Amino acid sequence: MEEYNTVIIGAGPAGLSAAIYASRAGRKTLLLDKATPGGQIYLSSMVENYPGVKSTSGQELIKTMVAQAESFGTEVKPFSEVIESDLKQKQVKTKDSQYHAENIIIATGNRWRKLGVPGEDDLVGRGVSYCATCDGPFFKGKNVAVVGGGDSAVEETLHLTNFAEKVTLIHRRDELRAEKYMQEKAFENERIEFLWNSEVQSINGESGVESLSLKNNKTGEESRLPVAGVFIYIGMLPNTELFRDQLETDERGYIKTTEKMETALSGVFAAGDARHSPVKQITTATADGTIAAIVSSGGH
Ligand code: NAP
Repeated sequence: MEEYNTVIIGAGPAGLSAAIYASRAGRKTLLLDKATPGGQIYLSSMVENYPGVKSTSGQELIKTMVAQAESFGTEVKPFSEVIESDLKQKQVKTKDSQYHAENIIIATGNRWRKLGVPGEDDLVGRGVSYCATCDGPFFKGKNVAVVGGGDSAVEETLHLTNFAEKVTLIHRRDELRAEKYMQEKAFENERIEFLWNSEVQSINGESGVESLSLKNNKTGEESRLPVAGVFIYIGMLPNTELFRDQLETDERGYIKTTEKMETALSGVFAAGDARHSPVKQITTATADGTIAAIVSSGGH
């Protein structure tokens, strides 16, 4: 069993901020991630709302945060998925090791929700995508669709216009949920078309996506939209399955905390998108991570 002062699970902005603060406070800090560090933001093509950084990519921002955490002594372990946890005993297990800490900070974030329609699973990686940053360049000069009406859907629709000939944004209502500033940018863009009150019934194609079957939920009218790709941005689900029977969560599985990021278990904290909170931004995730690290280090 390896001993640490602080073990942080999840190396997105919340986990990395916690790591920067904890290691800078002299705590022996381990940061585990199931893949490469970064979380959701790693896939974001454009970050324009992180104060002090006018415009950057998620990848660049994360690279800097990792370097910063390591410079203060954080041990960052990528590809170290926590597969078992005994939070009461402050123990976690990965495939290769077991760790014990005085404090555990859960910053496991959330993941994309699936549409759950026929064709979605079969055509993943062959036209169905949850990452415009990764897959957008494959659709140069082609027609693609985006499903959703939130910040992610609109932001990635805008990004896709850098590659695709036309991007059709399909939304189940007649009003977007996204920030007004981004909505205006999208409405002004000639490459973007909007399909309102529309739901995807199936994703069709043999070796790749060829079309979407749609239904207008106001008129009941059915139609087919020929596209080479579809990007799905319909919200998130928390990565908290491993902890739900040990901690208090809300009905969707987000971990409940106090304003000091304390969970129902002493010495166990949660921060960022995995936590029950009204706003999920990089700035709120980094704030959560900061609070969790300072409180767990005995600062408050
Ligand atoms: P979101 O805000 O939850 O939006 C999800 C969208 O998908 C909504 O428009 C919703 O429709 C739609 N939807 C949900 N389930 C659906 C289904 N089964 N079929 C069809 N449509 C469905 O998710 P998000 O856009 O991923 O954003 C998540 C969080 O990250 C938000 O807090 C957001 O502000 C934040 N974020 C911020 C930025 C930024 O500031 N730059 C960028 C990305 C994300 P309804 O509108 O009808 O509910």
